[in-house]
Amino acid sequence: METKKKYVMVIDTQKCFDCKACTIACKMENNVADNSQEYRNWVETGEICGTFPNLTQKFIPGQCNHCTNAPCEKVCPTSATYRNEDGLIMIDAEKCIVCKYCMVACPYDARFVSTTRHVVDKCDFCYDRIKIGELPACVQTCPPKTRTFGDLNDPNSEVSKLLKNREYKVLKPETGAEPNVFYL
Ligand code: SF4
Ligand code: SF4
Repeated sequence: METKKKYVMVIDTQKCFDCKACTIACKMENNVADNSQEYRNWVETGEICGTFPNLTQKFIPGQCNHCTNAPCEKVCPTSATYRNEDGLIMIDAEKCIVCKYCMVACPYDARFVSTTRHVVDKCDFCYDRIKIGELPACVQTCPPKTRTFGDLNDPNSEVSKLLKNREYKVLKPETGAEPNVFYL
């Protein structure tokens, strides 16, 4: 489905230092339960690089990739998972029957059963915030500005400039999901 906007997130892994401010801001913004099973976003510990004593470690923030070819959307039997007019993969809570097919289909393990909403939940790029011109809570909060969010269809956006000028990759490209979170 062609949409006017193409929202993406660009994550500079060289900046992230695993403070997890993004994870806490997300939980507060989106009423995600305060337990260790439910997260809309998270930070994984990457490989250690270099030789002692000159060692560095990468941290990899993760969340729903709002995939262009989303496996979760294809398997949902009730169309509770759908793509909205701005191209984002959303969940209609009234249609979700918690069959968990989408949780199995997602290559990024981005979905969980919410004990606060009683449906399957995941990151929606803080859609309520971006609709009114605000940034997603994780982007707003990140102290070293690891995360950049914007419209890739706008050639003057920060995300367009970053992806034009820097090398990047996506996670698990072999799945064919065509994720829209890019890693510098
Ligand atoms: Fe669906 Fe998972 Fe892709 Fe998000 S990351 S759109 S939940 S397949
Ligand atoms: Fe990394 Fe920024 Fe999240 Fe902190 S807030 S863990 S620096 S992405």
